[in-house]
Amino acid sequence: MKISILGCGGGGSHIAYQLAQLGVGEIHLVDDDIVEEGNINRQSIFNMNDIGKHKVQCVSQFISKRQPSCGITTSSKRLCTVNTVQNEIDGSDWVICCIDEPPYIAQRLVNRASHLLEIPSVYCFSQRSAGKVLFCDPSSEDTGCIDCLLVDQDCEHFQKLVGRFTNNEYNLITANILPNILMLTSWVVKHWLDYISGRNRSVTNKLLRFNFDRFVEEEFQIFKKEEDCPTCGSKENRSKLWEIIKIE
Ligand SMILES: [Zn+2]
Repeated sequence: MKISILGCGGGGSHIAYQLAQLGVGEIHLVDDDIVEEGNINRQSIFNMNDIGKHKVQCVSQFISKRQPSCGITTSSKRLCTVNTVQNEIDGSDWVICCIDEPPYIAQRLVNRASHLLEIPSVYCFSQRSAGKVLFCDPSSEDTGCIDCLLVDQDCEHFQKLVGRFTNNEYNLITANILPNILMLTSWVVKHWLDYISGRNRSVTNKLLRFNFDRFVEEEFQIFKKEEDCPTCGSKENRSKLWEIIKIE
């Protein structure tokens, strides 16, 4: 199996390591970021000698020392368009999106590219008090995608959210501690394993939330496949929302 992991911060790096330990044969890592001193407290794959190096390179070296049979390829491309994402994920069996780039732009790009190439995808979100996960599987007819989840969102709420991020008021929203990141990534990988092995496939059409303080999983938002979804639907949707979180 080949898995593309987009984003190699705390989420992506620990997920990549766990997948390699589970025996995944090929992993493609994509991230344009370099390791900074401030990452090391919560991104435990990296050490002080990695500062200034590309994250994808460091994760690749870390895994190769432990699982030399896992074939790892890397890319430090910035994922700004659907086409760039398509080029990176083409040929993958799964895509795991761990890009913490609010609000939903990166996820929309990955969602669109995965839909066009019919590759199942997983989206991880990390916040201070909770983590979230969402599974999309284009091979299953009734399964909604990231844009289906967004169809029902309130435009004004989104406009405010985008405004706050632009003004940097939400700067620390993704700041987290290692115990929470390890819980989040283990929770995501275990859900993925249960899905591919058929033990539990009830994770689609849901935004699941793991509460780090109460150690419980909640169904944060239930949604369905929308006919007017701009990615997987057949009808047009002219909401202003798609201008606010525009992708190309
Ligand atoms: Zn959709």
